[in-house]
Amino acid sequence: MIRVSELKLPIEGNQKTLEKKLAKALRVSVEDIKSYRIFKRSLDARKKDNIHYAYVVDVEVKNEKKILEKNKDKNISKTPDLDYKMLKGEVMPEKRPVVVGFGPAGMFAGLMLAEMGLKPIVLERGGDVESRKEAVETFWNTGKLDVENNVQFGEGGAGTFSDGKLTTRIKDPRCRKVLEEMVDAGAPEEILYDAKPHIGTDLLRGVVKNIREKIKALGGEVRFFAKVTGFEWKGDNIAAVFLADGGKIETDDVVLALGHSARDTFELLHAENFALEQKPFAMGVRIEHPQKMVDEAQYGEAAHKLPAADYRLTYTTEKGRGVYTFCMCPGGYVVAAASEEGRLAVNGMSEHARDGRNANSALLVQVYPEDFGSEHPLAGMYFQRELEEKSFVAGGSDFTAPVERVGSFLKTGSAETIEVEGTYRPAKKECSMDDIFPAFMTEALREALPAMGRKLKGFDRPDALLTAVESRSSSPIRIVRDGAGMSLNYKGVYPAGEGAGYAGGIVSAAVDGILVAEKIAERYGWTK
Ligand SMILES: Cc1cc2nc3c(=O)[nH]c(=O)nc-3n(C[C@H](O)[C@H](O)[C@H](O)COP(=O)(O)OP(=O)(O)OC[C@H]3O[C@@H](n4cnc5c(N)ncnc54)[C@H](O)[C@@H]3O)c2cc1C
Repeated sequence: MIRVSELKLPIEGNQKTLEKKLAKALRVSVEDIKSYRIFKRSLDARKKDNIHYAYVVDVEVKNEKKILEKNKDKNISKTPDLDYKMLKGEVMPEKRPVVVGFGPAGMFAGLMLAEMGLKPIVLERGGDVESRKEAVETFWNTGKLDVENNVQFGEGGAGTFSDGKLTTRIKDPRCRKVLEEMVDAGAPEEILYDAKPHIGTDLLRGVVKNIREKIKALGGEVRFFAKVTGFEWKGDNIAAVFLADGGKIETDDVVLALGHSARDTFELLHAENFALEQKPFAMGVRIEHPQKMVDEAQYGEAAHKLPAADYRLTYTTEKGRGVYTFCMCPGGYVVAAASEEGRLAVNGMSEHARDGRNANSALLVQVYPEDFGSEHPLAGMYFQRELEEKSFVAGGSDFTAPVERVGSFLKTGSAETIEVEGTYRPAKKECSMDDIFPAFMTEALREALPAMGRKLKGFDRPDALLTAVESRSSSPIRIVRDGAGMSLNYKGVYPAGEGAGYAGGIVSAAVDGILVAEKIAERYGWTK
């Protein structure tokens, strides 16, 4: 196939327009095109009077060889082979590998091990998507939290109740394998080529379930409400895992894909002397604006012709501390994302349609080990808990979220009309963010907001709403691993994903899951 890049199409363009452009770029007639598939589509909105789509297309065409030989255009080349190469080998582990956690990292570690015929046993402390959806809806409606089955814990992991944004900054050939498996499992085809792919929580639940069924169909097992609470060692080799229900599973290979919220399990790892280290991360608030304001700020008059717009803003304070927006959810909702009693945390999500009235994103301040207040490897986790407890109390100790208007926070006065109605459930209460955050964080936010308002018109408008606390943007802990992917001090244990400090986001966690599955196979001499 031939790859044609930089094909520009007007936003009103359609399939016919694309085919004509393709034929023109290749100097052939449309009839000479046998087949084609879109490899990449991105919206270029840098110039508001010239917003257009840019395409990269792979095409099968008559006289392909001749066209490539005569070609002088840098935007035309042979299509590279990007297919994922599965490892192959004879030697099978004596005992079935165990995967702890069924978030993106555990899901893809389990799927790859199953596709290699290694029949993994996946253990997930939370419930399957159906029971989880019920538990989460109950929490969002009543504030009644299930500490084992919630927005952080359960089938699909933290990302299931999310916007399902699949953007990642890692450049790894396994990324495409992740997207292909998701499409196989029912995700919309366009995630394969959209520059900013997203699934939406409504579709993501089905995708996760289908991946579970595929693992089972390949001889694997996925157990829910199966929390790992202990380990058995043979010297410094793993020999078995213990479960909360008293069960024991013997194994020589364990993937620890715990996520960033498995605080009781981190305390277990610390007690078992796992090599753990502090890791910088970020905390802050969720900020909400009318989605219409963002669409107009990003697309101008063309806004009504385009899907809900997103944004990404960064700022460095005079003291050198980073403030940035994160996990922006166009047409989305601020959600209660707690997993512990008495500790309130928020996050964001949206449905595939992204048709909610508000835009929201995390507005985060970078925090470093020196801010954690002690050298203890779990000090960052305790710092998170401290802010979550303050947020819980400030809201009234029933998962009512503390909120503040930007006008009040910046002391720039209140808005004449309030257009932004917050979306957090079950309830909200006006508070001062100074009652929750340490001064270095409120100072950084107060410095950043007006600066961001100059980059995105209206970002610091007085009726924009802040909701506290966004504390789970990434993990404050790293479970140190060596070149073979194993824990520094325990053979056969493979820390993976966000909780282990090796990923951030759905796709990079899934990629890390694939990587540790490969490491297990390599341990038994398998090769590409
Ligand atoms: C509300 C929300 C929205 C988000 N939106 C996005 C987004 O749009 N795009 C994006 O890229 N990222 C998003 N993220 C982040 C993304 O979800 C995470 O980066 C990703 O899920 C990390 O994957 P993981 O597999 O490493 O960990 P997790 O997804 O956290 O999964 C870990 C799993 O391990 C289980 N577990 C923990 N301890 C044990 C134990 N002892 N025994 C058994 N099981 C255990 C947990 O129950 C959990 O299911 C969002 C996160 C949240 C909370």
